[in-house]
Amino acid sequence: MSSENNPFNAMLEEFSGAAKLLALDPGLWKVLTHPKRQIIVSCPVMMDNGQIEVFTGYRVQYNITLGPAKGGIRYHPGVNLDEVKALAAWMTWKCAVAGIPFGGGKGGIICDPTMMSQRELEALTRRYVGEIADAIGPDKDVPAPDVNTNAQTMAWIMDTYSMHVGVTSTGVVTGKPIEMGGSLGRREATGRGVMITAREAARHLGLNIEGATVAVQGFGNVGSVSADLLSRIGAKIVAVTDWKGGVHNPQGLDVTALIAWTEQRRTVAGFPGGDPLDPGKIFELDVDILVPAALENQITAQNHHLVKAALIVEGANGPTTPEAHKALHNRGVFIVPDILANAGGVTTSYFEWVQDRHGYFWEEDEVNERLERKMVAAFTSVLDTARDYNTDMRTAAYIVAINKVATVTRLRGMYA
Ligand code: NAD
Repeated sequence: MSSENNPFNAMLEEFSGAAKLLALDPGLWKVLTHPKRQIIVSCPVMMDNGQIEVFTGYRVQYNITLGPAKGGIRYHPGVNLDEVKALAAWMTWKCAVAGIPFGGGKGGIICDPTMMSQRELEALTRRYVGEIADAIGPDKDVPAPDVNTNAQTMAWIMDTYSMHVGVTSTGVVTGKPIEMGGSLGRREATGRGVMITAREAARHLGLNIEGATVAVQGFGNVGSVSADLLSRIGAKIVAVTDWKGGVHNPQGLDVTALIAWTEQRRTVAGFPGGDPLDPGKIFELDVDILVPAALENQITAQNHHLVKAALIVEGANGPTTPEAHKALHNRGVFIVPDILANAGGVTTSYFEWVQDRHGYFWEEDEVNERLERKMVAAFTSVLDTARDYNTDMRTAAYIVAINKVATVTRLRGMYA
């Protein structure tokens, strides 16, 4: 992994830009750039062919100053400790920007879920949870879905943890099925937050969202819901890609039909409502808004000069490298950073955790209204900070977050 593409280095670089402007105390600087706890486990699993495989899993609790660690679990062949550390750090800053009482954590397992059966995935999930059971819990660390994990994975985690502690513990994970303590609106929450921040950013830029053209990279949970909700407020989704292919229609794609197509075929490739698009070309399209919603390191030193959009809304975590970010910002491209743009997911995860703890569940409208208020407040506070410090939105989001976590760290003091 090159230094530019190491997500933890990227996080540190983003952090230092903001910490310098804040004149952060050097001691607090050290505290906030070290993960509190890093767990590495080996998970043996009996595969369907009768052979034993051993999978490496990680859980990083980056910072728990504001509350329990919070963050997803990723299943992917590319998972590594630096990636999990970066994602856990981003969760810390994201929760602080969103104004919710959680710290940051993240987990991952090196595996290729596309090559595994449901039974193998369940066995792997349960063994991983068995290995980290002492470290998680509703007051300690609350996992959630991320790339290649979903509500079913969360159900297995909740059940395994509950068996360990001897009580049904719904609050140990979020993103659960509705029937077992999930929150209405959680599945759509990250995409809804992307839609809200895109709408607010467009308003700030004087860009009419009605008729604005949008290209979306990734058509999983975040990409598909972002596309759907943006199209519902009048934006025109002209291109979508995923790991297998892409589709482009300058007149606008029928997002509902594209979602139905993808549900059946697990890819947007071959969708008849547009022309095939090479996934590598998505960022070069002549559109108003780009929504990267796949993985990190997608807009880099190699391709940032090809970007034509005026607005980038980062649905994914870490899709733009620091070098690319700097160049794009200098060119006047407005970037809504990941720790703000995709904070809708963790905000509604917080609502889910609150509902689980109360044992009282809200209507979907109430969830969405509360999310709308939190996201608009977060966007406004970051935009105001960007103006106050005469800086870009990413640095401003870090300033808001670091200020909050540093203040509470100072108030709590050093336990010795
Ligand atoms: P997902 O697994 O549901 O979807 C990922 C999508 O990206 C898939 O369509 C996949 O085909 C596509 N993809 C993978 N590699 C690609 C490539 N090279 N080019 C184009 N497309 C590619 O995952 P998700 O939950 O939608 O997460 C996407 C991103 O959003 C990740 O960065 C994740 O950390 C972040 N995120 C997710 C949530 C959430 O609530 N799910 C919350 C905050 C941030």
